[in-house]
Amino acid sequence: MIIAIDGPAAAGKGTLAGRLADHFGLAILDTGILYRAVGMKLVREGGDPDDASAAADVARALAPADLDADDLRTDAAADAASRVSAVPAVRQALLEFQRAFAENPPDIASGNANGAILDGRDIGTVVCPNADCKLFITADVEVRAKRRFLELRERGLDAIHGRVLADMKERDARDSDRAVSPLEPAKDALQLDTSEMDADQAFAAALSFITSENK
Ligand code: C5P
Repeated sequence: MIIAIDGPAAAGKGTLAGRLADHFGLAILDTGILYRAVGMKLVREGGDPDDASAAADVARALAPADLDADDLRTDAAADAASRVSAVPAVRQALLEFQRAFAENPPDIASGNANGAILDGRDIGTVVCPNADCKLFITADVEVRAKRRFLELRERGLDAIHGRVLADMKERDARDSDRAVSPLEPAKDALQLDTSEMDADQAFAAALSFITSENK
């Protein structure tokens, strides 16, 4: 079983993916971490995330240990990720890894995985167009910015709400307007707006779609 979840930042994809992975016994891959790792490795090496050829070199040489860096959850990493992710050669370099994970998921703590769940921006459209089930999770940008702001504060990081909102709008635009693999729902995806839902409600709606006949 392969489940594809796409949508903009802070729409609730990660939480939903985790709940569904537990429920169905699936291995989970947060594909954003791959782009964050490429962006931050480049920045740490003194490179420019808008330098397409340098970004492609880093993506081709990405190693599993790079995914463990402790600065990948920062806003600087999100910004660098959204820049390198517009480079076609970067996306191409990361594609095989994502497809291999989906086709051959690693075992999970409770035993053999029953399949995989991937979340990102282009999973249903490009990475796993034949996924058994596709979800496109959105929420109003103000709601998403508020969620991200509270999350940063909770982690003890300095955050200014207006700044988080402006960064999110900028990243949304970059992800949606890029020429390759832009953020867009697959035709056969369930579109779920979580602006007025909590995690339980989003999980219930997703579960009912996944287990329905007409997905
Ligand atoms: O999901 P996350 O916020 O970690 O993603 C960071 C950035 O990586 C996104 O804004 C997007 O530019 C890029 N990304 C992508 N395709 C994916 C996952 C993430 O382009 N499948």
